[in-house]
Amino acid sequence: MQPANEPTFRESVDLMFNRAVSLMDLPPGLEEKIRVCNATYTVRFGVRLRGRIQTFVGYRSVHSEHMEPVKGGIRYSNAVNQDEVEALAALMTYKCALVEAPFGGSKGGLCIDPRQYDEHELEQVTRRFAYELAKRDLINPSQNVPAPDMGTSEREMAWIADQYARMNTTDINARACVTGKPLNAGGISGRVEATGRGVQYALREFFRDRQGVDKAGLSGTLDGKRVIVQGLGNVGYHAAKFLSEEDGCQVIGIIERDGALFSAEGLNVEGVREWIVKHGGVTGYPDAAHHSEGAAVMEEECDILIPAALEGVINMSNAERIKAPLIIEAANGPVTAGADDILRKKGTVIIPDMYANAGGVTVSYFEWVKNLSHIRFGRMQRRQEEARHELIVKELERLSDHLGDKWSMTPHFKEKYLRGADELELVRSGLDDTMRTAFQSMRDVWHEREDVDDLRTAAYLVAIGKVASSYRAKGL
Ligand code: GLU
Repeated sequence: MQPANEPTFRESVDLMFNRAVSLMDLPPGLEEKIRVCNATYTVRFGVRLRGRIQTFVGYRSVHSEHMEPVKGGIRYSNAVNQDEVEALAALMTYKCALVEAPFGGSKGGLCIDPRQYDEHELEQVTRRFAYELAKRDLINPSQNVPAPDMGTSEREMAWIADQYARMNTTDINARACVTGKPLNAGGISGRVEATGRGVQYALREFFRDRQGVDKAGLSGTLDGKRVIVQGLGNVGYHAAKFLSEEDGCQVIGIIERDGALFSAEGLNVEGVREWIVKHGGVTGYPDAAHHSEGAAVMEEECDILIPAALEGVINMSNAERIKAPLIIEAANGPVTAGADDILRKKGTVIIPDMYANAGGVTVSYFEWVKNLSHIRFGRMQRRQEEARHELIVKELERLSDHLGDKWSMTPHFKEKYLRGADELELVRSGLDDTMRTAFQSMRDVWHEREDVDDLRTAAYLVAIGKVASSYRAKGL
């Protein structure tokens, strides 16, 4: 798919990192310490399935432990490899730093095509993988906390949490060993859609920055903007749904594995999603033109392009032909370093992955805090209503004792908590605050520094600066 001179995913991340670091004044050696991946664990294990033992290969990479636990999803895909997992772990470090989620960066992956296995088989494989990681503290509430990623969901997280709890029966914080769990297994409201919601909030914030909108050659608000989404998985679907239902965007193109749908009048996101769930792809969808060469639809004229699936889909072979003036990276690493150079020269504005898709880990952070605090988040039952204020104040004190200043997360969160808002409202406002603050820190660098002409470099500068100061504070 990609030209031979295209750097690998990890090389791409390193190139982007180096570009930013060349504009910084870091003490000698610190730059390398931050860039390199601390460790990557490879495991091969066998599971008896369909009468024979099948061997699976999995990874968990820890990029930076400047803060612990380290955090990052677990991906299930046949394409998983060490280079990919390490690139994704590095991005987690920068992402968490940028949005001030107090974690280091990590990522895991298992080489498996989950569509080839039934639920019971996947549970067996997942529990065994979780066992292998947990026994080496690569799943642990205070050291390494996984979450969903491509090919995994709340279902796998519930199995992982249960497996960890079985292995650690006296760990009162066992539930905090993984985030993205179902609500009834210690999850938090709004986590499933959090990454897509974050993409929406990021775009809203971008459109409040008139100077940025100008730089992209756009005008006006989100209302009426034509959007093309590549990948209608969890992230792409929620982003497209919220943008079309709540912000007046028109989703004119949807690209999936088996081709793309295009309609200048706008597609019905919910209808397309239902079709995909039922038929496994977009082929045959009745209300739009179908293109068998899906990737070509990314090159159609539109206002906003949202790559929301795999890395490397915008590369040196197609970057020149991309017409969208604004790209928001809902996926991790969808634009290669080579394509990034081409697009930057063309003046395309890219809202980078480490910011654009940080909604997931942000809400993961809320879930982790909720699990560690052992209290309900948000509004009490009706019969407790009168005692509510008193209870909340007590809970707050307890939370502060337990977590220091980590708990309050954002100013609006605290105010809403005190007022007794429900959990979903707390999650949404906490996420919105986070996306706004992170955008502003990145935007200031973008507009104010003459040597910075793109948001990605600005994001790296902010993130690396935060990781560096955390190392400095430790005396390293
Ligand atoms: N896998 C998601 C990401 O790439 C979420 C990670 C998390 O919540 O820890 O950001």
